[in-house]
Amino acid sequence: MLKGRVRGRNVSIVAHVAHVLGARVSRAARTFPAVRAAGVTRAALARAALTQAALTRATLTQAAQVDGLSPVARPVRVAAVAAVAVLLAGCATSGESGGTADGPGGDTTGATPGSTATSTTAPRSDATTQRLDGPPGAVPRRGEVRAIPATGSLPPVISSIPTTRKVVFLTIDDGWEQDPGFVQRVRDQRIPITAFAMRDAVEAKGTPDPAGGPGQFVGAGKWGYFRSLRDAHVPIENHTLTHPNLRLLGYDAQRREICGSSTIIRRELGTRPTLFRPPFGNYNTDTLRAAKNCGLKTVLLWTATVQPGGKIAYQVPDKKLRPGDILLIHFRPNLARDFQILVNKIKRRGYELGNLQAYLDAATNR
Ligand SMILES: [Zn+2]
Repeated sequence: MLKGRVRGRNVSIVAHVAHVLGARVSRAARTFPAVRAAGVTRAALARAALTQAALTRATLTQAAQVDGLSPVARPVRVAAVAAVAVLLAGCATSGESGGTADGPGGDTTGATPGSTATSTTAPRSDATTQRLDGPPGAVPRRGEVRAIPATGSLPPVISSIPTTRKVVFLTIDDGWEQDPGFVQRVRDQRIPITAFAMRDAVEAKGTPDPAGGPGQFVGAGKWGYFRSLRDAHVPIENHTLTHPNLRLLGYDAQRREICGSSTIIRRELGTRPTLFRPPFGNYNTDTLRAAKNCGLKTVLLWTATVQPGGKIAYQVPDKKLRPGDILLIHFRPNLARDFQILVNKIKRRGYELGNLQAYLDAATNR
């Protein structure tokens, strides 16, 4: 039912965008001779029309976000950008590219929608498309990452990436609180994260983690929420079905938890997990055997956890980030706010955010 509502809303918003921009095109066409007579250039007219179009886009995107219907934002944006391209098709303008990366959550640039729009043209260049399309985050330079030795035939257990570059990795677990503002932020700011989905959390079966206060969006989008994360270039990895302490289970029960999770992720998202994170970081040799049997390549632990308020709880006494650290966050209330505090803190300390998969590939020679 929600899906139907979202789709219906998409259609009406897209129609509205087309209507608004269509009206602008005809108004611009009607007034163009008079404008030219007044000494205003065609390029200036196009910029003015684009400013208004971008403001319309920003407003609609914000409206979609307020409603908690993040899937709406993408088609609206696509429609708006396409319409702007149409609007500019006959105009001899040129200028900077990259305006489509901004959005309601994009406070890294400090630009308002209006000021961004004045320096924006239609996103035509290939460079812009590539920049917006690929997976986000820093990737390793040649020879930067030391190899992680293979542990026989079992998947390696990794808690940090062996590099001297000031780069850290963000991972986020479980999936109880499904704040649409968080997806928006990750997508618009192109922040590299890796999510470890646990079925009972995603489907809101049972009681969520009480840390961080009362939830607003517990189970709000179920697997649809993870589909929107996937669409924002977030790999969705394996964190079991029910979050048990695996050390208390035999091999068969462990295998059911781990293979069951990969199966459901494949069914719901169409992707195949390659990483496994054991709940509480508890595992034994049966876990590694089961993970291998379920097709997983690496068991991923962490070096520090992130608490409510964006506070980092280190596992080392000097309380410092180290190159290659893997940080563990949870889908908790106030995630969007806490996450921004965390990202700002990491950047203030001179660290980059890395693309975990690219670093793991380099470290394990995959
Ligand atoms: Zn967990």
